[in-house]
Amino acid sequence: MRFAILGAGMAGILSAIKLRAAGYDDFTVYEKADRVGGTWRENTYPGLACDVPSHLYSYAFEPNPDWSHRFSPGPEILAYFQGVADRHGVTPRVRFGAEVVRAEFTDGRWRLATKDGQRDEVDVVIAATGVLHHPKLPDIEGLDRFAGACFHSARWDHSVKLDGARIGIVGTGSTAVQIVSAIVDRVARLSLFQRTAQWIMPQENPAYSDAERAGFRADPDSMRRAYAEIADLFHAFSTGLVDADSPQMQMIETACRANLEQNVRDPVLREKLRPTYRAACKRLVMSPNFYDAIQRPNAEVVTEGIERVEPEGVRTRDGRLHALDVLVLATGFRVDRFVRPIEVVGRDGKRLDDVWSARPSAYLSISIPGFPNFFLLNGPNGPVGNFSLIEVAELQLGYVLGLVEELRSGRCREISPSEETTTRFEAERTEAARHTIWGSGCRSWYLDDRGVPMSWPWTFDRFREEMSAPKLEAFERR
Ligand code: NAP
Repeated sequence: MRFAILGAGMAGILSAIKLRAAGYDDFTVYEKADRVGGTWRENTYPGLACDVPSHLYSYAFEPNPDWSHRFSPGPEILAYFQGVADRHGVTPRVRFGAEVVRAEFTDGRWRLATKDGQRDEVDVVIAATGVLHHPKLPDIEGLDRFAGACFHSARWDHSVKLDGARIGIVGTGSTAVQIVSAIVDRVARLSLFQRTAQWIMPQENPAYSDAERAGFRADPDSMRRAYAEIADLFHAFSTGLVDADSPQMQMIETACRANLEQNVRDPVLREKLRPTYRAACKRLVMSPNFYDAIQRPNAEVVTEGIERVEPEGVRTRDGRLHALDVLVLATGFRVDRFVRPIEVVGRDGKRLDDVWSARPSAYLSISIPGFPNFFLLNGPNGPVGNFSLIEVAELQLGYVLGLVEELRSGRCREISPSEETTTRFEAERTEAARHTIWGSGCRSWYLDDRGVPMSWPWTFDRFREEMSAPKLEAFERR
């Protein structure tokens, strides 16, 4: 069987390694960029880090004794993925600069076309195209007339001088919080344009000592134990998120509230920074030092709405002009795209864009009725929360390999979930999602067009159990 893997980020590298380990060596990884690394290649903003502990944000089969911090910085994470891809011989299997623009299922195979006219025919497609990938630019009048430098956080322009400059940042998500802490001491003025305040979970980030790293190296089992311990903690935490009244949620709320009360001195600023919704309703932001940073004399939280952008800066609705040299749009991502804009055409000419015209969905976030032998990793409505998407992708890939085994064994040539199963699954998921903390009343990227959280709404244990083996009766096999 021949496979195409779309994307050479975390999940694409994983797919290549696991396919080969399972004995499937005929595959190509298609990557539109010129290097592996996905989101860690694209995001290079100052302060970039992962707020999942590094020993958990690692492939289970590739523990890394050399992580520098409990939450290591972005460049280190990118180097880790590049190293794994090189060591496992994935890099030479990637066709770089090859953007797949179309995938069509005809006569039992997927026919792929790239932008530069390459063609391929494969039996199975694994779409490892990421979630937080397409920048969402705000619809603010005059953005194109700004005279200074303006860019999205995932398109950081490193030629722009920050030292001594007047910087504006739009947004208060995980990205903006990391940028603020990283640059506030370098810039002349920092204006944070806040539409909605965020709860901030205080989270220390100690460095691993040389002795600790040597210990991990000498005793790989200690890393596995660290992985298991952190994974247990995160799973307990995620179980808390799906039950808005759980003890874990109360603990998170107490910690966030105490952080705000104890660490923001000025009562006016404290009220500006106080959210009006429950902690973890939006994606919980973790930071050891955001409140310190935003209380620097050169920093300001601007809560007045943005009226427009002018050549000199941002004009807020109170008529004030915030003069700026640089404007950073930390405004998030278009999270409803997944494999799109690739034009995916399934059985009988069924177009994915039509199937997903209201909103994306997939059975167990992996597979779509009418799109046989086409599987998504970190697809629609999968587990999000604050845990490791690597762990999620590893479990999903195990499930995909279970489906592929049906093809390999010759028991069928085409496999995709039935409409009925998928509709039932989606109805149950939607109903459960309404009762999670993410549906407790706030605006966030977790919500779909109906305001329903786009997430796995059950416990992580249930996810793991579901991923342990496909329930074949849910699938149509031809
Ligand atoms: P985000 O969480 O979607 O936040 C976007 C921010 O931009 C929000 O504060 C939003 O305000 C604001 N915004 C959007 N449009 C606006 C407009 N027109 N005017 C004013 N404000 C506007 O995006 P993100 O911070 O890039 O994070 C996205 C996700 O990436 C995170 O949730 C996380 O999953 C991941 N991430 C993870 C890490 C990590 O450490 N692991 C770091 C960075 C990112 P509202 O709140 O009012 O909508």
